[in-house]
Amino acid sequence: MSRERGCPQCGHGEFFAIETVESPHYEFANSIKPLGLTGYYGPSGETGLFGGSKDRRFVVEMTAYVCRGCRHVLLFAKDAALLERMARERRGVEIVAGLPG
Ligand SMILES: [Zn+2]
Repeated sequence: MSRERGCPQCGHGEFFAIETVESPHYEFANSIKPLGLTGYYGPSGETGLFGGSKDRRFVVEMTAYVCRGCRHVLLFAKDAALLERMARERRGVEIVAGLPG
C-alpha cells in the first residue's frame, strides 16, 4: 500500500497503522489472537502419518488503519489468494459486482 490518501471520512492525513488486527482470546485473559475476517477448516494438501489427507485451519487476517482525526477504521484483508480460493470452492465467499444498496 504505497499510495497516500487521506481519510475518506474527514480527510485527515495520519493514521494508526495496525499490521494485524487482533482480539482478546476468549478463554485466556493474557492471550491476544489475530482476528479472522473469515476462514474454514479443510484439506491442507499434505498427507498424514497413515496416508490420509491432513486438514488444517485457513484464516483470512486483516490489516487496519485508524484515522488519527476521526477514528474511522479501514480494514484490508491480508490474503486475497485465499479469498479467491474460498470463492472458487464456495466456502462462504462470493464474488459480486458492486456493493449492495
Ligand atoms: Zn478521519
